[in-house]
Amino acid sequence: MSTTQSWTSEANEELPGLAGRIIGPEDAEYESARAVYNAMIDRRPALIARCASPRDVSDVIGFSRRHELLLAVRGGGHHGGGLGTCDGGVVIDLSPLKGVEVDPQQRKVRVGGGCTWGEVDTATGEYGLATPSGIISSTGVGGLTLGGGLGHLTRRCGLVVDNLLEAEVVLANGKAVRASPDEHPDLFWAIRGGGGNFGVVTSFLFRLHEVGTVIAGPTFWPVEDGAEVLSVYREFLPEAPRDLNGFFAFHTVPPAPPFPEEIHLRKVCGVVWCYVGPAKPAAKAMAPLLDSLPQPLMHGVAPMPHSTLQGAFDGLYPAGDQWYWRADFVNEIPDPAVRIHARYGAEMPTMKSTMHLYPIDGAAHDVGPTETAWGYRDATWGSVFAGVDPDPANADEIRRWSVEYFEELHPFSAGGAYVNMMMDEGEDRVRASYRDNYDPLARIKAVYDPDNLFRVNQNIRPRT
Ligand SMILES: Cc1cc2nc3c(=O)[nH]c(=O)nc-3n(C[C@H](O)[C@H](O)[C@H](O)COP(=O)(O)OP(=O)(O)OC[C@H]3O[C@@H](n4cnc5c(N)ncnc54)[C@H](O)[C@@H]3O)c2cc1C
Repeated sequence: MSTTQSWTSEANEELPGLAGRIIGPEDAEYESARAVYNAMIDRRPALIARCASPRDVSDVIGFSRRHELLLAVRGGGHHGGGLGTCDGGVVIDLSPLKGVEVDPQQRKVRVGGGCTWGEVDTATGEYGLATPSGIISSTGVGGLTLGGGLGHLTRRCGLVVDNLLEAEVVLANGKAVRASPDEHPDLFWAIRGGGGNFGVVTSFLFRLHEVGTVIAGPTFWPVEDGAEVLSVYREFLPEAPRDLNGFFAFHTVPPAPPFPEEIHLRKVCGVVWCYVGPAKPAAKAMAPLLDSLPQPLMHGVAPMPHSTLQGAFDGLYPAGDQWYWRADFVNEIPDPAVRIHARYGAEMPTMKSTMHLYPIDGAAHDVGPTETAWGYRDATWGSVFAGVDPDPANADEIRRWSVEYFEELHPFSAGGAYVNMMMDEGEDRVRASYRDNYDPLARIKAVYDPDNLFRVNQNIRPRT
């Protein structure tokens, strides 16, 4: 490239057949195009390539390789550590790769690599069907799936990757391949938990389940009851039927309907429920917990379409807030850990800061630790400590709370963490999060991406 030419014009010259488009710093759209969900991340790529086809993806990979530019891949742009962007390199932005094709007879859905979960849940919900997804509809299918995928249906239907049937992947050499149990099975194994290390997934095929109306919503108790509620919850949840999911949370009640005004802005602890089935068995399944605890401040459980539940947190967490994440896998929650939780729950620094314990048992335990790259099949929960606030002035405070909470509890953890809920925390942490699957992943990485082109992720280094 000549010194007067920008990467944008160079890319436009070299890639005239691109179905999508190139956006660079000289374009008015650049500021919005470079933004990711977490406003704490402020990176300036040399160019953003909005890719509209697998061919576009392949061409942009070729461009990055020829010019030795760092390459980031963005699905929904939700990763807390900003792994969907980079400084000075190329961003493959998959947002134009939409398309959700539901096959209600075969109970399958094909999903474009740039879709968000809201798009998928809405389309499948029309048939009373769903595949497991996350808890916020704007999250990208790409990153959430490739890292594993925890959500309201985990206990009943497994992780998101347990429902992945095949994927179309553009590799580091630009070739498009299918990964399935029959084609490139090593790649298929690796992408079920190994993140974006192995290629760019341009489409996913998922299994669907009959999930129409769910019985869902929160039950809240005063945050001062945190130790008592958590002590009952830790015993209750692993024994509960698989149709019931309930993640434990510390929250502040948002000052808006449907929450009663008298508890607006009150710090609470509670459980966010999702029961797949009718109201009566749902109440029966929740009863052992509810009957063992004092009267809650709110028991807001009601029938609703699964896709409505998936969007329930969207208003509270729009793009553009400051986020700082820490996470750990947990097998058990002994009394000293309960006490630490209760203390930090009461000290949540901002209205949007939160701690969740996502169940990982039930159907997620039916799959063995080496059957997919997602190794922590023996964990009971994925804990996440998320400091969140719209005001950048509070960034240090939310970071401090999240890190100190995590550090005090880490000795009670299973060792690693869910890669989708970690920040950019270095190789040792990634290794700990894959345990025995790390070495096979590193060998598969050497086959499909020997030069580590795809390294803006929870990186697995290639090893022959
Ligand atoms: C508000 C919020 C709620 C969340 N809730 C949940 C939840 O309920 N359950 C859960 O499991 N996780 C949840 N997460 C975490 C989420 O799984 C990760 O943030 C995930 O990385 C998001 O995927 P994305 O495509 O939006 O991210 P991006 O930032 O776009 O990408 C993240 C990583 O995935 C790679 N990637 C993305 N798409 C592709 C693709 N198509 N091909 C190859 N690589 C790709 C990127 O290169 C990057 O390394 C949540 C995150 C947020 C911010």
